[in-house]
Amino acid sequence: MSRYFSSQVSQLTPYTPGEQPKDQQYVKLNANESPYPPSPGVAAALNAREAAGLRLYGDAAARELKEALARQYKVEPENVFVANGSDEALNFAFLSYATDGRGVAFADFTYSFYPVFCDLYHIPAQIVPLREDFTLVPEDYYGLNKTIVITNPNAPTGLAISRDQVEGIVKANPDSVVIIDEAYVDFGGESSVALTKQYPNLLVVQTYSKSRSMAGARLGYAIGDAALIRDLETIKFSTNPFNVNSLTMKAGIAALAEQAYYDENCKKIMETREYTARELEKLGFTVLPSKTNFLFAKKEGVDGKALCQGLKERGVLIRHFDKDRIRDYNRITIGTPEQMDIFLEKLRELL
Ligand SMILES: *Cc1c(COP(=O)(O)O)cnc(C)c1O
Repeated sequence: MSRYFSSQVSQLTPYTPGEQPKDQQYVKLNANESPYPPSPGVAAALNAREAAGLRLYGDAAARELKEALARQYKVEPENVFVANGSDEALNFAFLSYATDGRGVAFADFTYSFYPVFCDLYHIPAQIVPLREDFTLVPEDYYGLNKTIVITNPNAPTGLAISRDQVEGIVKANPDSVVIIDEAYVDFGGESSVALTKQYPNLLVVQTYSKSRSMAGARLGYAIGDAALIRDLETIKFSTNPFNVNSLTMKAGIAALAEQAYYDENCKKIMETREYTARELEKLGFTVLPSKTNFLFAKKEGVDGKALCQGLKERGVLIRHFDKDRIRDYNRITIGTPEQMDIFLEKLRELL
């Protein structure tokens, strides 16, 4: 770091994304990306006319995209916030709701960006341990009187809680905001979007990065009470009014018009997930029941880190987290059936 770096932020440990190595062609099962391309309408939307339009600023109000998302999720445009990836929506939500001194509560094993935001904004974090089997105890979050953030379905475990369980948590914390990060909800989870109509303290965050095959486009959104959305807009207009670029907005609208394509992809991924889980079990792995586009698995007597490294040497990338209690596990993104067969073949070789 330079000697000019402010002491307010110089101690930050930044988030580490899944690696994107370019030294060879890998079977890439380490970043929960989709193995399928965006729908045809997305490519068509990114045309020469749109490219020429780049000379102008986009619509800071993101009116068309918000209307399209509102139709999709049966809410009003005033209930939708759009962001440069859901990481940005989460960033703004932490800044908006967790910087009043009361702090934020989240699980010991969940999205590893949350502690980074806590660091960034000097927010006290209350870590709520998952059970031994990695399930979440909703009652642990009752009456905490601070911001709560829950990834549902969770990462890296893949486990989900029900909408009723979310509702219990939201009801039991009327004086604080509950953020539900639904990055993986389209792979079998139960969305809490409908609850946002009833509860002014519930914010649901989703993304185009996983189920809509658009991680590179950077598009996420939050759905909630209009007052919550206005808060996020205040932060956006105080940092980067044109946070979502015009091409991405067009792509996002086009994707919503082809929902059946994405539903079909999610169905394929869920089928491939169940196939892969059964094959892993045949090899002696313990596999957590997943509602996401990845599996979290371990095998007794096999070192998790060594397994991840061994697969990398054989051209397959998966994700290992070097943390107590989950060190034996690896997170394996679900690719195409062909990719999973290569993964399984390399894995058998290695074992
Ligand atoms: C991938 C992921 C995100 C971030 O998604 P972007 O929209 O690409 O920023 C947010 N939360 C969780 C839990 C994720 O896994």
